[in-house]
Amino acid sequence: MAQITLNNLVKTYDDGFTAVKGISLDIADGEFMILVGPSGCGKSTLLRMIVGLEDITSGDLTIDGKRVNEIPPRDRNLSMVFQNYALYPHLTVYENIAFPLRLNRSKIDKEEIDRRVREASDMLDLREHLDRKPANLSGGQRQRVAMGRAIVRQADAFLFDEPLSNLDAKLRGQMRTQIAQLQRRLRTTAVYVTHDQTEAMTLGDRVAVLKKGTLQQVASPRELYEQP
Ligand code: ADP
Ligand code: ADP
Repeated sequence: MAQITLNNLVKTYDDGFTAVKGISLDIADGEFMILVGPSGCGKSTLLRMIVGLEDITSGDLTIDGKRVNEIPPRDRNLSMVFQNYALYPHLTVYENIAFPLRLNRSKIDKEEIDRRVREASDMLDLREHLDRKPANLSGGQRQRVAMGRAIVRQADAFLFDEPLSNLDAKLRGQMRTQIAQLQRRLRTTAVYVTHDQTEAMTLGDRVAVLKKGTLQQVASPRELYEQP
C-alpha cells in the first residue's frame, strides 16, 4: 500500500509542448483513483511520470512521503498494467505470471514463487490455464495473466493504462467486475487511466477529471453523477 502525492506536477516534452500543466492530487493509501478525460489530455503522461517512464519537468511526486523524482523506476515498487498485455509468447501462463519473481530469485525461493502464482491464478480464475501459452487464450484471459503478473509482485500500487480498451464490450464488463473485486480484496492503491465513462463511474473511489493538461475536478462517482 502506498500514499501517492502529486504537487504541481508539470511535463514539457522535448518539442516544447506542455502536456501536464501543474497538477496536484492526493491519492490515499488503498484508494482506487481514476484519471479520466479525452484523448490527449495528459492522462498517460501523468501515469508515466508516476511509474518513472517519463521524467518530471517540475513539481514534486512523493510516495509514502518520500520524494521520488530521483528514485529510479525499478526501486519504486509499482506495477503497471498496459492495454497491450505484453506477455511472453513462448512462456506458459504460469511462467508469465512468475516472471517478475524469477528475476528476483535470489530473494524469493521457489516455494514462495509457487504459492504466489497459485494464489494469483485462483483470484483470477486462471487455475485451469496455467500450462497454456498466450496464443491459446482469449483476450480476457490474457488480460488476467497480465494482472496476475502485477499481483505477484506485491507492489505498493497498481498503475493501469487503459487495460480494457482492446477488449470487446462483453469482456470489458466482466473484467471491470473482476478488477473491482480484486481491488476490494487486495486494497492496493490503484491509479487507473481511462477515457471510458462507465469504467470511471463504476471502478473508482474517486475520479480525477483532466482537460488539456489541467485538473478540472476530483470527486466521487456519486458526486459526479448527482451534479447538475
Ligand atoms: P492521453 O493519455 O490523455 O491521451 P497523453 O498523455 O498521451 O494523453 O498526451 C498528452 C499530450 O502530450 C498530447 O497532446 C500528446 O500529443 C502529447 N505528447 C505525448 N507524448 C509526447 C511526446 N513524447 N512528445 C511530444 N508530445 C507528446
Ligand atoms: P495512448 O493515447 O494510448 O496513450 P500514445 O501514448 O501512443 O497513446 O500516444 C498518445 C498521444 O501522444 C497520441 O496523440 C500520440 O500521437 C502522441 N505522441 C506519442 N508519442 C509522441 C511523440 N514522440 N511526439 C509527439 N506526439 C507523440
